[in-house]
Order: sequence, then C-alpha cells, then structure tokens
Amino acid sequence: VGDEDAAHVVSLIRSIPGFPKEGIIFRDFMPVLADARGLDILIRALEAALPVPADRFDLVAGLEARGFLFGPALAARLGKGFVAVRKAGKLPPQTVGESYTLEYGQATIEIETDAVAPGQRVLVVDDLIATGGTAKAAADLIEKCGGEVAGFSFVMELEGLQGTALLSDYPLSTLVTMP
Ligand code: AMP
Repeated sequence: VGDEDAAHVVSLIRSIPGFPKEGIIFRDFMPVLADARGLDILIRALEAALPVPADRFDLVAGLEARGFLFGPALAARLGKGFVAVRKAGKLPPQTVGESYTLEYGQATIEIETDAVAPGQRVLVVDDLIATGGTAKAAADLIEKCGGEVAGFSFVMELEGLQGTALLSDYPLSTLVTMP
C-alpha cells in the first residue's frame, strides 16, 4: 500500500465532534467501506500490516459491530474462518461471556461456546482502539475458551488513551493514529 493509497483512505475517514456525547470525536470509517477503491485498499493494508504472519493464526474474530464489517473480508482473503464476538444477549445458547468496565457501568461480550476450540489461534480485529477495554475483554474471552490470541489488528488508534498498553502482551497493528 503506497502513500497515495494510504492518504486516500485517511481522506475518507469522517470525524464527528460531540457524538455520541460531548467531548468525544467520533471517527467514522463507513465512507471508506462505501468507496470501492477505499475498501480494496483497506483490506490490502490490513493484510500487509498483520501483526503476525497469517500462518500463525487459524481464525479471525471481529468485535461488534464494526469489526463485522471488514473482518470476514480479511478472513476470506487470508483463507481463514470468521467468528463474531457479540454484545450480550444476541447469540443463542450456549455462550461464554466476559464482563468489563466502561467509563460508566459495565458491558458484557459473548461468543458461542464452540466458536473457538482449545488451542486455536485467533487474530482479533476492530475498527478502533480507544481505552483498549473492549479488546482486552475479547482476549480474556478467547483465552477462557482455551484459545490463543495471536494478535490484534485495528484500523484506527486514538492516541493519548494508552489503549495499546493494555494489550502489551500481544502483537498489535494499527493502520492510522488519530488525535
Ligand atoms: P475501547 O474499549 O475504549 O477501546 O473502545 C473501543 C470500541 O468503542 C470500539 O468498538 C470502537 O468502535 C468504539 N469507539 C470508541 N471510541 C470511539 C470513537 N472516538 N469513534 C468511533 N468509535 C469509537
């Protein structure tokens, strides 16, 4: 992926100050997906920036909801399967869950019990890492199932939040750092 391609993707990321609440700048990568060239570059860039070689993982896991939008495309390109890590209450039984702390209150994420088999190596993907809390909970969930977290791929990273420090035990890559 060349500089011109990277600049094209970055130019398509929309920033919305004050959404979903005051003080947050929402980083919206939907316009990247809507653009044929942007989508192609995005998937190729994620492949080029993989935190570990593709032969070191068996599955791609995407975090709800925006990890679902490009995770399967990346997985298909790499010849891997895809697993959805969902918010609590969306999946039929049996599920395994992991709760984590948000700025206000708690959240729970779940996967189907047999989605990750013991010993399977998983690459976790999401659009953006902020505090890293969601991604860390996903790692704990995968490990609870006996799976192994091979690494994390994010499209965007918010600087100043130390989100990647929470995941310092794992290989990690991000394509774009945003203020
Ligand atoms: P965190 O657990 O704090 O790392 O938050 C990560 C999750 O929240 C990801 O699934 C992101 O899609 C979403 N998120 C957090 N902050 C933003 C933001 N400024 N813009 C867009 N999405 C965000």
